[in-house]
Parts: sequence; C-alpha cells; structure tokens
Amino acid sequence: MKDSAYKILAESISKFFKTPQYLILFVSDKCWMKCKHCWFNEEWKCENSQGKTLTFDELKNLSESVKRIMFLSITGGEAFGRDDIVEIVNLFTSNGKTKRFQIPTSGFLTSQILAKTERILISNPGIPFRVDISLDGNEEVHDNVRSCKGSFKNATNTIRELDKLKKKFDWFDVGVITTISNFNQNIVEEMSAIVEEIHPDGEWMVNIVRGRARDARAGDVEITNYDKAQELIRMKREKNAAGNHSGHFTAKWLSAKNVVRRKVISDILQNKKEGGACTAGSFGGVIFADGSVYPCEMLDKTYGNLRDYNFDLTKMWNSSKGTEIRKWIQDNKCICTQECFLSTNILIQPQLWPSLIYERIKLK
Ligand code: SF4
Ligand code: SF4
Repeated sequence: MKDSAYKILAESISKFFKTPQYLILFVSDKCWMKCKHCWFNEEWKCENSQGKTLTFDELKNLSESVKRIMFLSITGGEAFGRDDIVEIVNLFTSNGKTKRFQIPTSGFLTSQILAKTERILISNPGIPFRVDISLDGNEEVHDNVRSCKGSFKNATNTIRELDKLKKKFDWFDVGVITTISNFNQNIVEEMSAIVEEIHPDGEWMVNIVRGRARDARAGDVEITNYDKAQELIRMKREKNAAGNHSGHFTAKWLSAKNVVRRKVISDILQNKKEGGACTAGSFGGVIFADGSVYPCEMLDKTYGNLRDYNFDLTKMWNSSKGTEIRKWIQDNKCICTQECFLSTNILIQPQLWPSLIYERIKLK
C-alpha cells in the first residue's frame, strides 16, 4: 500500500513540476584534484561518459527548456574551472527561475574562485547562493587524500577569503564539507578543531564516501567515526548559533535537515532503515557534463542524452523511460547514502518530520 502510494507520488511530482526541482548540473568533467575517495574518476568516466562537454549554447538551450528550479547545484569536476561559469549561472538565474543555488569546490585556485564568486553575487542580488569548500583532513591528510600538494593551504585560504565576502553580501553563505573516508576517519576531532579555527561562523558538514572510489580503501569507514563527527557538529552548533546555514529565511531549516539526514545515514549504514521513498528521478535529477540525464549519480539508469531530445528536458523527464525509471526506484526500494537526495526525501517521509521540527526548534 505504502509502496504504491510512493510510486503514484513520484510520478505525480514529475508530472506536476515537469522538470527536476532539485537539479545537480555537471558543467565540467575536469578537475584540479585526483581525490582518492572520488567516484567521478577516470574509470567511471570511461564506462559512462559520452565525452564532449555541453557548450555554453547548449546549456542556454537547456536553461530555456526549464521554467523553475528550486535548488540548483552547479558542479563538476570543478565548476569554477569553466571560464564562462558566471554566464552559465546567469542563464539559470534569469527571470527568477532558480530560487537558490550552490557551487561545490575544492577551493584550489583561490583568486579565480573569489573573483568569479564576487561576479556571480553582483549579477544575482538577493538570490541565495552558497559555495561549499571541501576539507578532508589536516594539511598532511588533506594533501594526501586530494593527491595534490598545497591543496590544504589553498582550500583554507579560500575559505577565509570567502568568509570575508559573506560579510559583504548577506544572501551569500559559505560551507565546509568533509568527506569521511578511511584516510581521515581517525582525526575527526582534529578536523573539527581546524574547521572551528578557520571557519568559526559557518556550517561544517560531513559526508561519507559513496560509489566506486578511485582508491578502493576509501570506503572502509567505521560507523562510530562518522557518528563522532555528527556529535562534534552538534556541539559546535550548540556553542555557536553561527555554525549553521545562513543567507535566506529557510536557512535554519536546512541546518535542522542536515542533523536529521546524518541520523538517517547512520541508520542506513547500520541497516536500520528501510529503502524506498527516494525522490531521485522525480523531485531531483542529475545532468552530467556530456548531456546525459540520470535520476541520481549512483544508478546506471539514464533517461538518455539531451542532445537527442533537442534539449527538451520536460519531454525527456516525462517520457515512458522516465516513468519506467521512477517505477524501478520505488519497486526496488532503492536505498543509499547520497546526501543530496536524502535531503529531498525528508519532504516525502512524514515519519521524519517530528525530528525535523524538533531540530529546528532547538536552533535559536
Ligand atoms: S571529489 Fe571533487 S574535487 Fe575531488 S577529484 Fe572528485 S570531482 Fe574533483
Ligand atoms: S536511493 Fe540512492 S541510488 Fe537509489 S535512486 Fe535514490 S539516490 Fe539513487
């Protein structure tokens, strides 16, 4: 009964909104790093990518086929590596089309990231925008995980400089994200202290390795270490209310959601959570740099390539293939720890709403 309801709901969401409202858009498949925990690695690209990255004109066609996006994550590889990243953002934010957006980055080329971020902020006054910088350890561990000497120094410098920009633009937010992996799981307390020191007035989030990592050892993580990081974040938030999302009126709800999401991830890792009710493929979706459209990054099921649909995302999203994928996800009670979709899943899982409200009330 519950499963059929979720199947109907997923299809209705897709038909109602016509295109994904939580969209992860890869605008590049090139990266400044070679992270050991990365699933978007050479092997994945070799097996899944059709090659040629979407051009600016093709992205323009895509933006014209979309009427509204509640949340857009512009990612890669390294989205800031594109010379036209500001113009790409503007394609999707024109006419109030995108309500909120984010760019994750390794933070490696500080001056380039700062200059582009400032231009984006000036071109998009009042539209909540957040840059999330990855920080995966102390200097030695981070540079080792990222396989790039100097990456820690640059990332921390970028965080400090972006935090200064945050004071100038009140619709701007900066987050620090740590991916807990086998390589940093034993230094979570030290990580917490580092983030506290360089980013005292902003959010620290932890993700957990997912997919087929570049280095197969990455995913060998003790759940207790992930839980320890959750506890450290809770303590940071209780000590300092500034350690939360900011930049818009629903920001605190997002921080509350992150608490619930970490608990859900912990339950999934301990096999305590039932699958199903995933919003990937209905409310959320992914477009890779080569134009191929997927419900999420984890499933090898594609709706096809935008180039074969004349960039009509609505047609593609609501095709019989789309219905088939959505049905498969619910029929198979698909479950994983993909943080983005676990966020939107909370919207359709009423059993999580009391915890969400409780965590929101706890925030001043
Ligand atoms: S995790 Fe991100 S920054 Fe690291 S190699 Fe992969 S895409 Fe690049
Ligand atoms: S549970 Fe994970 S793999 Fe399955 S559809 Fe949702 S995001 Fe994708």
